[in-house]
Amino acid sequence: MDHFQYKNGELYAEDVALTKLAEEVGTPFYVYSRATLERHYNVFADAVKELDSTICFAVKANSNIAVIKTLADLGAGADVVSVGELKRALKAGVPANKVVFSGVGKSRSDLEYAVKAGIRQINVESEEELVVLSDVATKLGARMPIVLRVNPNVDAKTHEKISTGKSDNKFGIDWTRAVEVYQRASNMSGVDPKGLACHIGSQLVDLEPFRAAFRRMKEMVGELRSLGLDVTRVDLGGGLGIPYEEDETPLPVEYGKLVVEELGDLGVEFEFEPGRMIAGNAGLLVSEVLYVKQAPTKTFAVIDAAMNDLMRPSLYSAYHAIVPVFEPETDEKVTYDVVGPICETGDTFAKDRKLPKLASADLVAFRTAGAYGATMSNTYNSRALIPEVMVSGDQYAVVRKRVDIEELLDLESLADWQS
Ligand SMILES: *Cc1c(COP(=O)(O)O)cnc(C)c1O
Repeated sequence: MDHFQYKNGELYAEDVALTKLAEEVGTPFYVYSRATLERHYNVFADAVKELDSTICFAVKANSNIAVIKTLADLGAGADVVSVGELKRALKAGVPANKVVFSGVGKSRSDLEYAVKAGIRQINVESEEELVVLSDVATKLGARMPIVLRVNPNVDAKTHEKISTGKSDNKFGIDWTRAVEVYQRASNMSGVDPKGLACHIGSQLVDLEPFRAAFRRMKEMVGELRSLGLDVTRVDLGGGLGIPYEEDETPLPVEYGKLVVEELGDLGVEFEFEPGRMIAGNAGLLVSEVLYVKQAPTKTFAVIDAAMNDLMRPSLYSAYHAIVPVFEPETDEKVTYDVVGPICETGDTFAKDRKLPKLASADLVAFRTAGAYGATMSNTYNSRALIPEVMVSGDQYAVVRKRVDIEELLDLESLADWQS
């Protein structure tokens, strides 16, 4: 459920008409609903309430500080994958002791920054990283809490580009080596192994891969304990899928039940790292139709948003529902390819999509654009970053302003031999 509904024939974000926002900030723009973010966080928190847990919002899904702050105010921590994200989380008011730092390629200076910031834990993804981290922390006089992110070799049955838990993916420490590495870690001066982590992929639409991964985690915890090693934390990552089409996806409450069923008696503190599940349905991308172009075999709706603003369709062939901002008066549908202005054929949001009849200057909204939307945007074709707006009831705020192309040009200069 979200708070983007039609009222009097036009689409609203909570109590604010999208047409009003379009007038205010221009198109294209992202809009987030605070009530929807809160609702999704609370649904997830409720689903795992039987467990002692910290919910660390995966900042890469939506890293706007106003979004992070909304969740932090409800008690959320943060899962970050770069120092940039760590800085955002701290700036948004997430306490350092609720931040976990994942990622396969943390540099020495990244690790130094995280140790100094006193975050909750670093999720170590290789033996090589472990050695560097222990050295970094020792030099800083610290013993850094860590968990080992293991790769459980489970097929998440999701898009290949967002599957992370197979042994041929770059993530985590192979599960067959995990016990040995944990033992090694427990003898290092700069790290304090607390437990294990896994994250097998994103947009999982079936619970069975989670079950398989959880069982493997449980086995490993048992093995570590039988060797006299302490395990007090288990981080189960994120990955819960959401409906982009009319499809059925597992409910958070079912996911929570599964965790309790498989791991409830483990006697550990849990961490969860949901991203998409919290932010996905809480955002729209709003765009204006520039032209409806009639080609020999197709009708193209050329809109002012492009693949640089929302990459998911071109990157993952992802589906986003596209709806008109003004509710159509008839059921008449026309088949369009919805495309952006970028000079790439891949700049296509939808092929052969049946939509209400569109005309130049109509506004359309992409649903479920709150996760992996703005965060993946870039400036290809010298298209500057678009604004992000947050709505709460009848209030709204521009939480990232539109970047001026001049601001981008100011970053560049001619070589001194060119002047
Ligand atoms: C991307 C990512 C997440 C979030 O995944 P969602 O599918 O958005 O829930 C969580 N943990 C890690 C380590 C990630 O890389």
